[in-house]
Amino acid sequence: MIKKEETIKKAEDNSSEPIFSRAQTNERHAPRKEELPRPGPATAPANAATSTIGEQGGARRRGKSRNKFNDRRPKLATQRRLPPTGIHEGKMGTPKDVEAGDDTLKVIPLGGLGEIGKNMYVLEYKDDIIVIDAGIKFPEENMPGIDWLIPNTKYLETKTQNIRGLILTHGHMDHVGAVPYLQQRLGNPDIYTAKLTRGITLKRHLEFPNLPQLPITLVKGGDIVKMGDHFEVEFFHMNHNIPDDLGVLVRTPVGTVIHTADFKFDPNPVNDVPVDFEILKKYGDEGVLALLCDSTDAERTGHSISEQTIYDNLELIFKEATGMLITGTFSSMINRIQQLVQLSEKYGRKVCFGGYSLKTTVEFAKELGYIKIQKGTEISMEQIHNYPREKLTIIATGAQGEENAQLMRIINKEHRHISITKQDTVIFSSSVVPGNERSVQYLKDMLYRAGIKVYHYQMMDIHAGGHARQEDLKQILDLLRPKFLMPIHGQYSMMVTLGGLGKEKGMLEENIIIADNGQIINMNKDQWWFDKKAAPSEYIMVDGLGIGDIGNVVLRDRQVLAEDGMFVIIALVNTKTGKVVQSPDIISRGFIYLKENKELLSHVRKKIRMIIENEKSRPLNIPYIKDAIRDDIGQFLFQKTERRPMVLPVLIEV
Ligand SMILES: [Zn+2]
Ligand SMILES: [Zn+2]
Repeated sequence: MIKKEETIKKAEDNSSEPIFSRAQTNERHAPRKEELPRPGPATAPANAATSTIGEQGGARRRGKSRNKFNDRRPKLATQRRLPPTGIHEGKMGTPKDVEAGDDTLKVIPLGGLGEIGKNMYVLEYKDDIIVIDAGIKFPEENMPGIDWLIPNTKYLETKTQNIRGLILTHGHMDHVGAVPYLQQRLGNPDIYTAKLTRGITLKRHLEFPNLPQLPITLVKGGDIVKMGDHFEVEFFHMNHNIPDDLGVLVRTPVGTVIHTADFKFDPNPVNDVPVDFEILKKYGDEGVLALLCDSTDAERTGHSISEQTIYDNLELIFKEATGMLITGTFSSMINRIQQLVQLSEKYGRKVCFGGYSLKTTVEFAKELGYIKIQKGTEISMEQIHNYPREKLTIIATGAQGEENAQLMRIINKEHRHISITKQDTVIFSSSVVPGNERSVQYLKDMLYRAGIKVYHYQMMDIHAGGHARQEDLKQILDLLRPKFLMPIHGQYSMMVTLGGLGKEKGMLEENIIIADNGQIINMNKDQWWFDKKAAPSEYIMVDGLGIGDIGNVVLRDRQVLAEDGMFVIIALVNTKTGKVVQSPDIISRGFIYLKENKELLSHVRKKIRMIIENEKSRPLNIPYIKDAIRDDIGQFLFQKTERRPMVLPVLIEV
């Protein structure tokens, strides 16, 4: 019961925010009578009152005709089937010249293709499997109340005994954030990663005290680890906007596969050394069968920006800045934090960290030596009032417009210690993750309304800039000279653009693999093809403590509540006479303003009375009456308002 109310409350709280898309316009046509077993509100599930308990419980309660009715409801936008890629129509199914039963290497992307986030790539040969990364993704805008999306690991869950290792390339949440949710489902495999990534992963793990400890083996560039009978894994150092980024080379019986990790080439990295091109060239000379390559910045021309350039740009802001400097960032943006600290020290500003995750990340990054702060630079929130504003830098969370993050609270005047004035300067020091554009825009507008000086990534190169751009991508293709190129870690347009760069470099179109999550790519040393079967890839949602328990029924309820609100009918029925005692109570949220719709409500009350009192069977068939109320009142409300609130009838027998 509590859960149901919470769900409703959440939707209500959000109702003032125009953050839910109205994409499902097809749901808004009036239901056609001849199509439906019973006319009614197309979106309100028959089991609305119980559906929040879980998809299973709800489905069981549904009658036969109900199921049919529900099946007809349009699919969620989130389930929309993407059109086939069209690029490799001939690549589906085993080619004729390949003998059935031949062993192939399977590459299976379980997340990260056609999206930014929830990265997970699987390599499988016979009974050996290695998994690379386990990341989270921000929920879509039409997923109210969902915290995170994680990779769908169903394919792996029956094969956990074959998993030889989980490799974590670097410490960003789109690569390590799902470890607490998935590690058990994968059978608690050995984790291989570098020092900083281990620190970040373990720190996050502390938030899940009930989970067993993580078996982590530390590796660094140059280390070679045998995994199972068929894989030899060699790690190599890459640059990104976080230190300790590891590329992964896997020698397999059919050839060598390289996963670049998120990377850029940076001659001047922060707390790090540049990529060793000689090593990459050596790999190229050895021969690379397939390159799984970061495509995030494939649409940008030129070279990626060095961390030094970012530092120089940030310095310009520090020189100009009056008042307090407030920067929004991710807690895992270790490099950016280091640069902001260094500049604050140079310009005599004290630094205060805002946000729990940021503070703890900084603490252990300091311990590990990845962030260096002079004694006396860091101050606590309580101390900021002791310093003039122009002597302060606040490094806070919330550059993505996250609702509860520090930056949003400061701007909404909800922060306990920090207020903002016209003299202050705000820096958005990370790029906008696709899908967060609107909330970031809102945040930006709020700042402009307050007359505050804002620097964001489009104005200067102070953004993340952690990914290889076209010239770097061409360079890595030159160094590694792979036979197959598979763009990963990107929206579809980014992946296709990287594929185009491969062609520019003389690769055959048929050797470029543009895939979707869940597709199983078979490789031998000569060719690749898609399996006719695919691994499950639908979204797994995390809401609070629940992982994957929010199914489509629950999500649909939330969307209905978010779009058209709810309409609760409470009626007292005399069991003997079947008469309605008193006038039924009506409670509505997010649907119409009751006081201004008295006439509509009196019609509704009359209809309810009619529906109940027309039911002649004794004892009263309560479930039947509820269904009838839900459908008939839903239909009536739609006729009158063209809205489809969730109708929840409550019948109390007296
Ligand atoms: Zn990254
Ligand atoms: Zn990433």
